[in-house]
Amino acid sequence: MMKVLVINCGSSSLKYQLIDMETESVLAKGLCERIGIDGSRLKHTPAGKDTVVLEEVMPDHNKAVQMVLDALTDSEYGVISNMQEIGAVGHRVVHGGEAFSGSVLITDDVIKAMEECSELAPLHNPANLIGIRACQKLMPDTPMVGVFDTAFHQTMPEEAYLYGIPYEYYTKYKVRRYGFHGTSHRYVSQRVAAVLGKPIEDLKIIVCHLGNGASVCAVDGGKSVDTSMGLTPLEGLIMGTRSGDIDPAIMQYIMHKENLDIDQMMDVLNKKSGILGISGISSDFREVESGCEAGNPDAIRANNAFVYHVVKYIGSYAAAMNGLDAIAFTAGLGENNGKVRAQICSYFGFLGLTVDPERNAVRGVETIISTEDSKVKALLIPTDEELMIARDTVEICR
Ligand code: ADP
Repeated sequence: MMKVLVINCGSSSLKYQLIDMETESVLAKGLCERIGIDGSRLKHTPAGKDTVVLEEVMPDHNKAVQMVLDALTDSEYGVISNMQEIGAVGHRVVHGGEAFSGSVLITDDVIKAMEECSELAPLHNPANLIGIRACQKLMPDTPMVGVFDTAFHQTMPEEAYLYGIPYEYYTKYKVRRYGFHGTSHRYVSQRVAAVLGKPIEDLKIIVCHLGNGASVCAVDGGKSVDTSMGLTPLEGLIMGTRSGDIDPAIMQYIMHKENLDIDQMMDVLNKKSGILGISGISSDFREVESGCEAGNPDAIRANNAFVYHVVKYIGSYAAAMNGLDAIAFTAGLGENNGKVRAQICSYFGFLGLTVDPERNAVRGVETIISTEDSKVKALLIPTDEELMIARDTVEICR
């Protein structure tokens, strides 16, 4: 069994984990920040040891990957003796369009297909590709695997992925719902089945991935049948700074009133809306949580609107699946905020869901948070996208 390097590359950042797949344990993880910007640095954390911060100029991603490899093989804070110990690299790729319904070995043809998807995710895919090329350059003989955020949702039926707009926009431009966070939804739904001790084929699960970006996914028999994010990650729930669902006519109205162009309007919807926009406090839910505790009406308003939107999606997905066995909560907010979990679940008493306050008083631990006799189960499942990427990588390189 091999060691797998998992890479998640953004336009100015690169996150990594080196995972020993024999034990599925993380040997080291870290983050390169401000690549191509002043003040770039690498934060490297070997398992069980202190984080090392290396401040060095990183003009591009090649230098960042080189620094990661140097850190991993360093005599002091490294965790392997040489690069050859890395059996394969798994890359997170945001958009796989309709070309990828699963993870793949990266070849020249795959890179070409990824480039074609870049138009659909201009902020993310080009950065993912830069990371892949940088790794290929420094590790030319190591197999690389691409794992797509959209792939899990390719099982959605047509009625779920089509928008109510002229069909030719789909046939000509591939405008449809793709969905994101697929690796997380897949991992969490598999863990739900394992924790409940039932085959996933027999379960109807709704996964609530509630982080800065947030999405809900209906998983029927292990397959995604609907999800709240769409062509882009802007659709669906109210998020940290993203609006989620709105009436598209709002854009025209506000653009006239505030004299904005479309880029400025998109900027408002992506960066100034959501929890931040409604509360005026912060995009970080921790601050909204303490605001709620202090009785701040702006915080309470944002909290309640967020919860209500999650509830609406859960209700509609229970209908879409014609039933529901379990709701799972994951990501920063889902794993840490018991109050929000309880508030969301409180709407589903009519389905026979009851939360056990004692069981729900946990953070970041796999737990069934519903009562023993609850008909629909509620669970907290910490997500692990890196492990899922590493498992796919091993599977494909076997
Ligand atoms: P992303 O990966 O999408 O950037 P995360 O999954 O890290 O986001 O989730 C970020 C959200 O989770 C923030 O709103 C933050 O307030 C909340 N969160 C993260 N950690 C905690 C914590 N320890 N307690 C409460 N909320 C937390």
